[in-house]
Amino acid sequence: MSATLKATDSAVTETRNTTCYMCACRCGIRVTLKNGEVRYIEGNPDHPLNKGVICAKGASGIMKQYSPARLTQPLRRKSGAERGAAEFEPVSDPDLMIYAGGFFDDNDKKLMNAVHDTDPQALGAQSWNFTDKRLPEMLFRYRARSYPETLDAEEQARWLAHCRDRLIEGESGYFTFEAFYAEIEQLRSEMEADAPKMKLLDEVAAFGPELESFLKGDVRAAHNR
Ligand code: SF4
Repeated sequence: MSATLKATDSAVTETRNTTCYMCACRCGIRVTLKNGEVRYIEGNPDHPLNKGVICAKGASGIMKQYSPARLTQPLRRKSGAERGAAEFEPVSDPDLMIYAGGFFDDNDKKLMNAVHDTDPQALGAQSWNFTDKRLPEMLFRYRARSYPETLDAEEQARWLAHCRDRLIEGESGYFTFEAFYAEIEQLRSEMEADAPKMKLLDEVAAFGPELESFLKGDVRAAHNR
């Protein structure tokens, strides 16, 4: 990013050449700031991609910084709310925040590459000084999902508790066993006449009680279904 500074009437006006992130085109933009606050955005005529031209969305990027209506935290539709009813609730689960919380900084990007290059057995013992608050939990879930055998007893208990909260209690609006069985029954009634699909459905249905009994630590769940 390049910058030009000008002092006018005790206010410092600054122009920065950077890139628009309002869509994947990444047009070159020139941002004018006054005393550090964005005043307006225009196309950068020297940029090879857009040669000074930007769309209305790019030009209104200032709204992303200052509009009182902008999103300041990730939201999801409340469970049971009608689409369009504008009933939302904040989420803090990193799995639901892939596009929230901003881009990862260079330090985190380096650490994420290092995570991929590290022996999975050593991931838990190593300390990872992430900047982004989502990453420690994301690393734990990555280990739990991909390398469950590397979790120690305490981590295994934590992971099982997390799975129970989601699949049994429906935390964060996740699909529960109850919803799964209801959907299977619904599909059975729709596919009665289709033997191959019913066979497939039986195989999928068998997975539910198996996982449920494992999570509950209770083999009876599998037999009672
Ligand atoms: S100026 Fe418009 S087209 Fe270009 S990156 Fe921004 S949103 Fe996309």
